[in-house]
Amino acid sequence: MGKFQSFEELVSYIKEHADIIDVISDYVELKRVGAQWMGKCPFHPDKNPSFSVSGEKGLYHCFGCGASGDVIKFIEDIEGVSFIEALEILGEKVGIDVESELRELRGKKDNIPTSPAKTLKKAVAYAAEYYHRILISESASKVVLQYLYERGLENTDIVEWKLGFASPTKPFYQFIKEKRLSMKPFIEAGILKKDGTDTMRNRIIIPIADGTGKFVSLGGRLWKGEGPKYLNGPETPIFKKGNILFGMHRARKSGKEKGRMIFVEGYFDVILMHKYGFTETVAPLGTAVSDRASREIASLVKKAYLIFDPDAAGVKATISTGFKLSSLGTAVYVVNLPGGMDPDEYVVEYGEDGMERMLIGGTPFAEYVSTLIIGNIEIHDTGKVIKLMRNLENFSAFATDGNREIWNTIATFIEKQLSIPAPEIVSRLYRMKGGQRISSHKVNVSGPYDILEKGIYELLLIEPINYIYLPSEFVEDFKPHMDKLARLLGLITEFYENHPEDEPLEKFHIFIRSRDEEIARDIYTGRDIPTQDISKRFICLVSRWLMLKYRDLLQQSRNNPETFQELMERKKIAETIYTHKDLGCSRM
Ligand SMILES: [Zn+2]
Repeated sequence: MGKFQSFEELVSYIKEHADIIDVISDYVELKRVGAQWMGKCPFHPDKNPSFSVSGEKGLYHCFGCGASGDVIKFIEDIEGVSFIEALEILGEKVGIDVESELRELRGKKDNIPTSPAKTLKKAVAYAAEYYHRILISESASKVVLQYLYERGLENTDIVEWKLGFASPTKPFYQFIKEKRLSMKPFIEAGILKKDGTDTMRNRIIIPIADGTGKFVSLGGRLWKGEGPKYLNGPETPIFKKGNILFGMHRARKSGKEKGRMIFVEGYFDVILMHKYGFTETVAPLGTAVSDRASREIASLVKKAYLIFDPDAAGVKATISTGFKLSSLGTAVYVVNLPGGMDPDEYVVEYGEDGMERMLIGGTPFAEYVSTLIIGNIEIHDTGKVIKLMRNLENFSAFATDGNREIWNTIATFIEKQLSIPAPEIVSRLYRMKGGQRISSHKVNVSGPYDILEKGIYELLLIEPINYIYLPSEFVEDFKPHMDKLARLLGLITEFYENHPEDEPLEKFHIFIRSRDEEIARDIYTGRDIPTQDISKRFICLVSRWLMLKYRDLLQQSRNNPETFQELMERKKIAETIYTHKDLGCSRM
């Protein structure tokens, strides 16, 4: 039997029992400041802590970007998952099997949404399990296993990371056919190609997990045949490459404990680094670490080590990742392994101590960049300034406002080597095109309807019952431009058909969050409006909106005396409301 009578009850239970400080601490390094906890915001580039969490209120709020919400909202945003998935993740922490509770509740009523993301994740997990079984139990896979052993892996690692093999003789698609399962979710999840065959055919399979440890895609290393040596699954609704760091779900905890994170390039680098005790190691999927992933790392640890390949792609990734993390206040070190060795080779050969020595000997990022820029320019070169400027030009894209401090440090290194004044280097760099381009910003233009509707929308999220003030004869005329507002009005009507008028706001918010993720994101972003004024404000905004609407309609129907008269009447009513002294609309 289920433990809960209703979905709302389940949500309230999880909110009450999942300690927001505990949960957020897994992602953000929090320090106690008075009654609050503060840390660096994972949702915007935040160099100084502006992200606060209140255990008492069960809410977080960022003074920098305005991100705010409760513990469920935090998981939704940081992990990029749906409301239901966030409940499941938190459910695990508080000992509630959300999936089975929901199944139980669904038997009673069907207002609870299923998430399409979950279907896809189940498909990936199912395929990963299949390929894993093929690797460990098929005799034809023995040579593959042998190869993995030679790279330094043991059976326990193969099981722990669920490595597999997409054998050409035992393809997954055939298994699906025999089992009479639908191919659709597997195609959508990128496991099968559109023609129904295995995407990773003839590859060693490395399942890729998201931040919560759920598999979202498969990576593949070429075993035989043609194609790139390494292949990631295609982008799908659950797999956004830029947002995922391979190994992150295992690395977060020890990264936080050790206060550092290690970045490497490949799957096997991560797996073997973990095997040798560097459980704080991750790899970006693709060429560089995304902005989002950088923020996540910067709010979690103070130090980062980059061990990318010394080839052109690796250097590019080092520079871009280094600037991103440094601008967020993380101390970055670049590690070059001798003889161009990969981290997995190095750690197998020289063990934990050897690798630790390499990390300790890492070059501070600013020094690394200055060496690249100086190249073979020497202090006595006659054209050293011109040469330096030419080299600097390649870096002008990184001359952003957020990077000024790092550039000052880089320039001091260059000054020491070439005896060119650091301030001159920096100011010349920022005069190059890259620096100017970044500082311009977009301006949002919106019309009078948009502004009014935004206000109406915000008020309805805070006090939905106000919808009753939409006078019935006007409801037809009040057709919002904002799609979100139209949807919200529909949801409000539906809600109050099934709930009493004095239902707590909390329940309404739970309802919204289970129905419309886009609107749900706005629940906590409303401005602070004194509660006693909300209804008045609402009526003012709506009547102002209607005045505007009738004015526009009147202009269009000058030649139609009948509608003209009618519209004049309506406009007058709206004006009477708007100018009523008890409301004081003009003062708001
Ligand atoms: Zn923020």
